[in-house]
Amino acid sequence: MKPVKKSETILIIGGGLCGSLLALRLAQRGYTINIYEGRPDLRTTDISAGRSINLALSNRGLKALRLAGVAEKAKAICIPMYGRMMHDAKGNTFESNYSGRKGEYINSISRGDLNGILLTEAEKHENVTIHFNKKCLGVDIENSRATFESYKTKEPFTIQADVIFGTDGAGSSLRKSYEKQLPGFKVSQEFLTHGYKELEIPGINRKHQISKDHLHIWPRGDYMLIALPNTDGSFTVTLFLSYSEGAYNFDNLKSKEKITEFFKRDFPDTLELIPDIFHEFTTNPTGVLGTVKCSPWAYKGNTLIMGDAAHAIVPFYGQGMNASFEDVAELDAVIDLYQGDWERIFSEFQKERKKNADAIADLAIDNYYEMRDHVANESFIQKRIIEMALEREFPSTYFSKYSLVTFNEHLGYHQAMTKGRAQDKVLLKMIEEREIKNTTPTKKILEEVQNRSEKLLNIQNE
Ligand SMILES: Cc1cc2nc3c(=O)[nH]c(=O)nc-3n(C[C@H](O)[C@H](O)[C@H](O)COP(=O)(O)OP(=O)(O)OC[C@H]3O[C@@H](n4cnc5c(N)ncnc54)[C@H](O)[C@@H]3O)c2cc1C
Repeated sequence: MKPVKKSETILIIGGGLCGSLLALRLAQRGYTINIYEGRPDLRTTDISAGRSINLALSNRGLKALRLAGVAEKAKAICIPMYGRMMHDAKGNTFESNYSGRKGEYINSISRGDLNGILLTEAEKHENVTIHFNKKCLGVDIENSRATFESYKTKEPFTIQADVIFGTDGAGSSLRKSYEKQLPGFKVSQEFLTHGYKELEIPGINRKHQISKDHLHIWPRGDYMLIALPNTDGSFTVTLFLSYSEGAYNFDNLKSKEKITEFFKRDFPDTLELIPDIFHEFTTNPTGVLGTVKCSPWAYKGNTLIMGDAAHAIVPFYGQGMNASFEDVAELDAVIDLYQGDWERIFSEFQKERKKNADAIADLAIDNYYEMRDHVANESFIQKRIIEMALEREFPSTYFSKYSLVTFNEHLGYHQAMTKGRAQDKVLLKMIEEREIKNTTPTKKILEEVQNRSEKLLNIQNE
């Protein structure tokens, strides 16, 4: 179907993951789009420093990419990760699959390459123009006018559009304009006491040194290391660590001796994989981790914030990008219903989406504790083994919380959270009270979990 040319002009601030997919989808619908991106074109300039190099892409993100016809292109640069590979402090490893069902896995993908694909696909449409090195300074929301500064000339200039989307990430300029201009605008920004630093396990002759089929985790209670594979044989390793608390923290890990001592004590197996840990540690930046919740996301039919600009979350469920892509799919469905009435589109979009965005923000914080601590805890390990068995034996009936969030893209995050949490509570109680024996039939466990979690949900809904 040939898209119908729409009369509205659309301005998108930020050509990152969400903005570039949004531009592509709106261009397919026939709108005239101008993207203004603060940084240079990442397809021709190396600007990866300080940003996570690879990300876990899963069903919700793929659903939105499929809608825009780019899922196959993305999949071509993905590495499937079927489960977690845990590394203990003695160097022993054990695996835990993400799902008991066949064909359910998450994917490691390069942020830069995926963003590049989306920009290229968007640019193929003659109704899309991308302006790089143009940083937004603020938006006059009443008059739909955005002011930018050109990186080269430093001259400010103003662009007027019928509709302005802010997809300019966690530090969004449009969200900051709401703060200044919208009485009653609510925003909360909560930062973790932990930051993150990326390191690299290089490939040897483009071969991975550890299993590329897993997301690797070194859980150490108060902090952890994770690693995701890249297509060139390397792994991007991320250390999540407190800035100032504990015996080792970002503030006191300065000398070669102390950094080596830390890795020798807690992550000895990584020292064999990372040739110069001191160089890696001291040359790579430390990033902050935080959650942004705000409301409203829109002003009349003039402006809307989406992606991290509206709901930045901590990265522990691997869902920030997936949620940002899902925003595009959800908005698209609302456009189908109210095409031409942006005010209605924006308010309906937020009505449904906000509770789901809040839910994944909370789930991501829960997973922070799960990954750094619980994955090595006995009850948790037993729960995962039972969940795998339930999913294997009853693939169309039982879905763990992780599966509900990650692989059930047709269920909202909020529903996934409530159902998943109820199941978790019931299963953990059954394990702790030793109700489940080796001889207990899986069917019986399934029925108990289903009945008891349903009761719990009914009580919560009363
Ligand atoms: C360490 C880490 C690991 C992560 N891992 C995962 C993962 O495994 N899976 C997952 O789904 N998510 C993950 N995320 C989250 C994911 O990175 C974000 O949710 C995602 O990037 C959001 O996309 P976005 O387009 O909304 O924002 P961004 O990707 O931040 O893009 C914003 C764009 O706007 C531009 N911009 C910013 N300010 C301006 C301005 N004033 N004017 C013009 N342009 C501007 C930026 O240059 C950028 O291009 C991770 C995040 C971190 C920090």
